[in-house]
Amino acid sequence: MAAAGVKKSQPYKTEGTLFVISAPSGAGKSTLCRELLRKVLRIKLSVSYTTRPPRRGEINDVHYTFVSREKFKSMIDRGEFAEWAVVHGNLYGTSLKRLKKLNKEGYDIILDVDVQGAGQLRKTCTNAVYVFVLPPSMKVLKKRLMDRNTEETDKIKQRLDRARDEIAAYKDYDYIIVNDKLEKAYRELESVIVSTRLETKNADRQMIKSLLK
Ligand code: ADP
Ligand code: 5GP
Repeated sequence: MAAAGVKKSQPYKTEGTLFVISAPSGAGKSTLCRELLRKVLRIKLSVSYTTRPPRRGEINDVHYTFVSREKFKSMIDRGEFAEWAVVHGNLYGTSLKRLKKLNKEGYDIILDVDVQGAGQLRKTCTNAVYVFVLPPSMKVLKKRLMDRNTEETDKIKQRLDRARDEIAAYKDYDYIIVNDKLEKAYRELESVIVSTRLETKNADRQMIKSLLK
């Protein structure tokens, strides 16, 4: 798969685009986002805060910033989140400070948030693109959750029950990607990023100005 984007290591715009990506748990969103971060230049993940305990292999400040409920609640009180929600019994939130920093540096940003978080962002963010990742079937979704082996059986059931409600929100998203074959789904996600970058409103105005001199 070819890497997308320009051959520049530094961002050139003054403002990036937010790519808000939601999916029912187990659909493959993290796998797809990981691939994006590896292959596409000028894009970063907004690392969320969560009260969920780390899974095996998860690194603090890389996958999530893992905090206590007390700490999370004090961050809510201080208005430090661009959005936050209770998901599967745990608190998850996007740091406003982190978003602003990445945005100012000109990076496009991936926000891996649930449908509630996406709903909150729709009210405040004007420069966001909303992508929903679907599994090819509920049977496959269950199998992926079981094979991932990161949750107990009762937690898997909870995630599957919630999946139907989340999928019902698909109409609010700009793009729908069915993650059946990983490579195909990845290409589709990368295409969304590339085509958004090619929109006239996202063009490098400085560069065009210099052409007109
Ligand atoms: P999410 O972040 O949406 O909860 P993950 O990215 O953790 O989901 O994926 C769930 C499981 O499914 C992981 O074990 C992952 O390796 C696997 N997986 C993801 N996409 C595919 C795919 N297209 N085909 C087969 N397995 C996949
Ligand atoms: P997981 O525990 O499997 O990593 O994530 C569970 C769910 O929480 C996923 O749907 C994921 O998108 C969502 N999530 C992760 N970070 C955030 C966040 O910052 N805000 C919101 N609203 N949801 C999040």
